[in-house]
Amino acid sequence: MEQAASSLISIISFMKNYLVLPIVIASFLLSCCNTYRAKEHEFPKPVDTTTKPIQLQEKKVYRTEQGVHADNMFDGARLNGFIHVKQDLFQATISPENTPINKSPYYAFRLWATEPTQIKLELNYTEHSHRYPPKMSTDGINWEQFDSKFVKRTSDSINVIIAIDLTTDTIYIAGQEVQNSSHVKAWCKDKARHEDVYFSTIGHSKLGRKLWLLDMYSGDKQKKDIIIIMCRQHPPEVTGYLAMQAFIDEVISSSPLAEGFRDKYRILVFPLMNPDGVDLGHWRHNAGGIDPNRDWAYYHQPENRQIADFIVRTTKKNKSKVIFGLDFHSTYHDVYYTNNETPAHIQGFKEYWLSEVGRILGEESNEKPSNVGAPVSKGWIYRQFGALGITYEIGDSTPRDFIKEKGQVSAIEMMKLLVLRK
Ligand SMILES: [Zn+2]
Repeated sequence: MEQAASSLISIISFMKNYLVLPIVIASFLLSCCNTYRAKEHEFPKPVDTTTKPIQLQEKKVYRTEQGVHADNMFDGARLNGFIHVKQDLFQATISPENTPINKSPYYAFRLWATEPTQIKLELNYTEHSHRYPPKMSTDGINWEQFDSKFVKRTSDSINVIIAIDLTTDTIYIAGQEVQNSSHVKAWCKDKARHEDVYFSTIGHSKLGRKLWLLDMYSGDKQKKDIIIIMCRQHPPEVTGYLAMQAFIDEVISSSPLAEGFRDKYRILVFPLMNPDGVDLGHWRHNAGGIDPNRDWAYYHQPENRQIADFIVRTTKKNKSKVIFGLDFHSTYHDVYYTNNETPAHIQGFKEYWLSEVGRILGEESNEKPSNVGAPVSKGWIYRQFGALGITYEIGDSTPRDFIKEKGQVSAIEMMKLLVLRK
């Protein structure tokens, strides 16, 4: 009897050590993982975001017998062909990573000649049509838009022809200022010199590029309400990025307002959400051939999955609430895309904020509200956190000094309103 009891105790102890504990640990881990992952959402207008093939551009130097040469050997370049057509006319072919794709034919390449010469350069977008006015740079840092008298539409109005004076010095020609992952990294490192800014990597893109975070707050991060800033889901949307930079500069300034704001709130900034698309010179998609700003339902793409999970995990771990998400983009003109749905927090903030920013800048505040429809980030912010989500769009050709001012004013007015909140 005693022996039987002792065997039973041994069996129980065996189960406890080798079966029960692992089961308890496994179920604990499972519950953690489940809790700390972003929910999947059914949007009224679903989009298939399973990976599709992309066409990689051939990286090369294009040399012509006329002594006019071009290349795409830098991150953020886009040039799919370069030929001499006739006399002084050359043609650069620009094609997208895959189709269907919206009209955002981005291009960036270098050009030089063996001796000074005047050329005409046609930008040939295959079956697509021109959007971004060409810009020029001698150093890849300072950019100037071509005077419109040097840029003519082709007779079918699909392509453009640029008149260019070439020398033996290399020049950059691009649809927007080139801001590749190296530029963004340098900017992040510069911001991270501030004691309230923490620069880290929270994951990796499909091709292994880093997904960066600038985490901003002062003091204890526990229970601080969170504001999410997103940028560069769409590679050519550099004007939105310029506004985001000015916005962040204001949030980390040494003004009493900004200091008070960082004391009260935590700001999670994702400055480069589609690094593969940006460095590959894509028009719109990531390396999975998908528009990342349609993948906020099931997170088929690794960038969306990791960023969404990170935000949810951070919020849970710190007992915080996401109260606001702002996603910087570019389109034909300045506009705020908002949700009709009433957010759970900071009700009334959006109306005051947008009207104040408009009043100070002397511009009509162009808000376009709609019901949550396709799985875009502003809808995700609402569905996941019940929070206010806004797509902050800057026009392709909005003057750069105005973009800076608008970014600054937007940040100051946001901080003024939110810092007063109880
Ligand atoms: Zn966009």
